[in-house]
Amino acid sequence: MPAQSLNLATDVVELTRAICDIESVSANEKALADVIEEALSVYPHLEVTRDGDAIVARTNLGRDRRVLIAGHIDTVPVANNLPTELREINGEEHLWGRGTVDMKAGVAVQLKLAGELVEPNSDITWIFYDHEEVDASLNGMGRLSRNLPELLKGDFAVLCEPTSAIIEGGCNGTMRIEVETFGVKAHSARAWMGQNAIHGAAEILNRLNQFQTQEVEVDGLVYKESLNAVLISGGIATNVIPDHAKVTVNYRFAPSKSVADAEAHLREVFAGLAVKVTDASAGARPGLDQPAAISFIAATGLETRPKYGWTDVARFSALGIPAINFGPGDPNKAHADDESCPVAQIYSCEEALRKWLSA
Ligand SMILES: [Zn+2]
Repeated sequence: MPAQSLNLATDVVELTRAICDIESVSANEKALADVIEEALSVYPHLEVTRDGDAIVARTNLGRDRRVLIAGHIDTVPVANNLPTELREINGEEHLWGRGTVDMKAGVAVQLKLAGELVEPNSDITWIFYDHEEVDASLNGMGRLSRNLPELLKGDFAVLCEPTSAIIEGGCNGTMRIEVETFGVKAHSARAWMGQNAIHGAAEILNRLNQFQTQEVEVDGLVYKESLNAVLISGGIATNVIPDHAKVTVNYRFAPSKSVADAEAHLREVFAGLAVKVTDASAGARPGLDQPAAISFIAATGLETRPKYGWTDVARFSALGIPAINFGPGDPNKAHADDESCPVAQIYSCEEALRKWLSA
């Protein structure tokens, strides 16, 4: 039996406080997962499945559309910011404390509506998962997609990560490459005997300087791309002509491009140079042209903008499910010691999702 229990019918801000005050730093989600599982299990309209500390609750009404609504239940380490408090900040009421922004206010909205929406207009898969704030190999949603892939089927997904309660579509992809130049070592007193690889790297920097940042429209949102040198190395001693230099380049690319497209593009930009891909993650299309998204925007009248950072919406995208980010709290306050979420945003997210799912 869990130590505490949750009443999902309670006020959503109270619910946020209750789940924030059950500390759940990554790898310590069990106590919170236990109360969430117990609270969801009392509802006959939900089929509840648990995998580790991830919980999936599904309606099975035979609707012609299924939406996935997901949030992670772990937080980064506590920094003297629990238990939560209601505080007035800049004249506005906030819930202060670890997890209020990232992302238990979003999780509380999910929990509240999971209990309340007995007859939603779409079938809903509510996903609560563990280990988001740590190494990607531990990510609870990644594990769910390997262990129980049938539970992650759907037509559209909403990730309730903080967006200040506006709709942020998809996310940019990211790729890192190493571009190398080679030369011939020699004593710097007789430099003409060698060939300087660091001077050769100027060509890499020239091409980066010439690169025009692209803006790419994807499903109605404009994504800004970027291509930047982020590390540079070369040389072995102050009297040796270097025979090797390396520039690490990070490419943030629009979600309409696959990882293969991004690589092909970089090989073109750096044609004639040695290019090695060191890591890559595809972005996620915003899917704002999908009927579920169109109805979401219509029901809520909310503003939409592109998401530039990589988020777990890309995991949905990899499963072929268009996804958006939508949740209470300013993402700039995530992980901050003074993490705090405007109470009004928690209510507005609750109201927006309720309106969309019951319209
Ligand atoms: Zn988060």
